[in-house]
Amino acid sequence: MSDHAPNGDASAPHQLTIRLCGPRGFCAGVDRAIQIVVLALKKYGAPVYVRHEIVHNRYVVEGLQARGAVFIEELHEIPTEHRQCPVVFSAHGVPKSVPADAEARNLFYLDATCPLVSKVHKQAMRHQRLGRHVVLIGHAGHPEVIGTMGQLPEGSVSIVETEEDAARLQRPGEGELGFVTQTTLSVDDTAGVIRALQERFPDIIAPAAESICYATTNRQDAVKQAAPGTDLFLIVGAPNSSNSKRLVEVALKAGADRSLLVQRADDIPWHEIAANAVIGLSAGASAPEIIVEEIVEGFRERFATQLELAITVEETENFPVMRDLRDVELTNADMAFLNGSA
Ligand code: SF4
Repeated sequence: MSDHAPNGDASAPHQLTIRLCGPRGFCAGVDRAIQIVVLALKKYGAPVYVRHEIVHNRYVVEGLQARGAVFIEELHEIPTEHRQCPVVFSAHGVPKSVPADAEARNLFYLDATCPLVSKVHKQAMRHQRLGRHVVLIGHAGHPEVIGTMGQLPEGSVSIVETEEDAARLQRPGEGELGFVTQTTLSVDDTAGVIRALQERFPDIIAPAAESICYATTNRQDAVKQAAPGTDLFLIVGAPNSSNSKRLVEVALKAGADRSLLVQRADDIPWHEIAANAVIGLSAGASAPEIIVEEIVEGFRERFATQLELAITVEETENFPVMRDLRDVELTNADMAFLNGSA
């Protein structure tokens, strides 16, 4: 980027264009997971324990903490005197050992695993039931990958992250192979890994339906469409958010000069942004809309900003919460927090 550092001269403001992608931000799985925590707090009172960050976003986590949620990494952290309080499992899904542990400890748990992650669990279990060794395309150590591996007995899953991994993979034994993928991968990179697997193992069996979820695909498509000709592409998201990091990569591959992951407007290198720049803007599936608004406002304070919409599709997906929480009444403030606007 250039060396201009426009500073909001009101008499002759510098021009700038923002290409705002849609769909962006909260997906149906994130929306459902946050709803479950808010509704549980309303119905059962604080504290409600949440195992792992419910979704990978600090703003959301801090907002829930302020309402009485307590984040833990493992169930043994719940004090004995709070064993009757609900504990929520995050949208990323958990290994089978976690609900089993909760039952052994007599805990009351609510599972906020996204239904599309549960679908991948079922795809993996089906491969295994049919005697296939499972190849899981995904990032080792990510909570979703840990959860999917934990649906199956030890030794029945191999993780593959790259085409090189696929080319090096050894078939364990004589049996068939079946693959599934993490839900939040790059659509294009994953197609390459699948091709490499199919070249090495022509008999490898695909899951019955795509494992990468609609929200990941739609956000990547919108960024791909908006990226050509942008000087800087900003993605709102956390450094541990897989789908947000993929959006940065997609923007760069699709032609953005530069792309950055930002958590808040303060993370933007404002002094590096030139007049007349074209800025792409999107948000990962766990990022609330209020941060997108904060960023647009930050540009408006510094530049005469023109907003262009890059909308590729309307999303209508909605995943209902469990029956026990459906009768809980919410205030307008709760609703604003849930839709990411407060
Ligand atoms: S990104 Fe996809 S899999 Fe993950 S919570 Fe959202 S809809 Fe579910």
